[in-house]
Amino acid sequence: MVIVSYKRKKCIGCNYCVEQAAAYWRMSKRDGKSVLLGAEEKKGMHTVRLENEALEMNEAAAVACPVNIIKVKLV
Ligand code: SF4
Repeated sequence: MVIVSYKRKKCIGCNYCVEQAAAYWRMSKRDGKSVLLGAEEKKGMHTVRLENEALEMNEAAAVACPVNIIKVKLV
């Protein structure tokens, strides 16, 4: 299982996470920030549990994110 989380408030809307992991991320037309698909929000952290196959792409998104708000953990 992979846990992906991010601090959405700090997103600058650069789209890099979508470019790296389009199956898991979208850009919001409403506020220009990214959306982690299926994530639940708790105290500003948006978190989703995914299958292991999601690891590589989301790690690439985490590395690409210029404000370093994406965390990926294998559990
Ligand atoms: S890479 Fe980071 S800053 Fe850029 S859209 Fe994704 S979460 Fe936001």
